[in-house]
Amino acid sequence: MTNAITHHPSDETLADYTAGALDEARRLVVSMHVSRCPACADEVARLEAVGGAFLEASPGVPLRPGSLEATLRRIDQSGSSPEEGSGDNPLSRYVLGPWRWVGPGVRQRSVSVPDVDGIKVFMLRAEPGTRLPHHRHRGYEWTCVLEGAFEHQFGRYGAGDFDEADETMEHKPTVCEGEPCICIVALQGGIELQSLLGRLLQPLIRL
Ligand SMILES: [Zn+2]
Repeated sequence: MTNAITHHPSDETLADYTAGALDEARRLVVSMHVSRCPACADEVARLEAVGGAFLEASPGVPLRPGSLEATLRRIDQSGSSPEEGSGDNPLSRYVLGPWRWVGPGVRQRSVSVPDVDGIKVFMLRAEPGTRLPHHRHRGYEWTCVLEGAFEHQFGRYGAGDFDEADETMEHKPTVCEGEPCICIVALQGGIELQSLLGRLLQPLIRL
């Protein structure tokens, strides 16, 4: 059964992703979406072609100091070297921690993205019907669904869907029935949990 992807990163996010302007945590979560979403993969390829054409069209413009190195670094970090192939799993370059119980029906495992400025990347696995604690963000929370589905006030998010939340949003996700929901999340600055359960979970989630 194919699950149509309906929630994508914003145009601005895809442009930043293509330009190498995202931090590693967000880049990983976006790449998990792009590797599953032909529409966004096409858009990234188009943006890369536009960027390349722009460079070729301006031969008289000297590169800013360091910009060549920055470009090479981005190419290096894009993870699409020929031997890896284009269909590789962006997660394969990271170490995943063991699944840890963080609350009823919810487990979490770490992803070895270096902790810079309090940004964490982790995977979350929640049983069908689980109501995740009502929470508010202090920074961004970007999520790519890997398996299963959850829903909140902005819609249903199934496998491959991308949820780009920021500090203005308050969330109360519920895992859809059927199968466990597994997500990868890049979280900045922690979250504020509003329910009693959430307050009990808080020390565990802020690892
Ligand atoms: Zn997409």
